[in-house]
Amino acid sequence: MSNKSEKKHVRHVPQRTCIACRQTLPKRSLIRLVRTDEGLQLDPTGKVSGRGAYLHDSKACWNIAIQHRLLEKSLKTELSDKDLEKMRLWMEDLPDNAE
Ligand SMILES: [Zn+2]
Repeated sequence: MSNKSEKKHVRHVPQRTCIACRQTLPKRSLIRLVRTDEGLQLDPTGKVSGRGAYLHDSKACWNIAIQHRLLEKSLKTELSDKDLEKMRLWMEDLPDNAE
């Protein structure tokens, strides 16, 4: 019986799921998108209140999300053309593949 010290080394890292590839990752590796009254917003701080969805910081996953309207399903809302345009702009800054 010598497993006393095991517990204190377990760190709880918040995990979230990318809505495109369904991989579960630490929150930090994902980008949070939030639906607000002003439309879709990026939430780098994770502090914006509202219904949010997580996506990888990779163009591949954003493409999947846009093509299959995954964000709409996840946020339970219809995205306006303006929102989709914003997503495409944000996507431009992302690397092609996730690490
Ligand atoms: Zn992904």
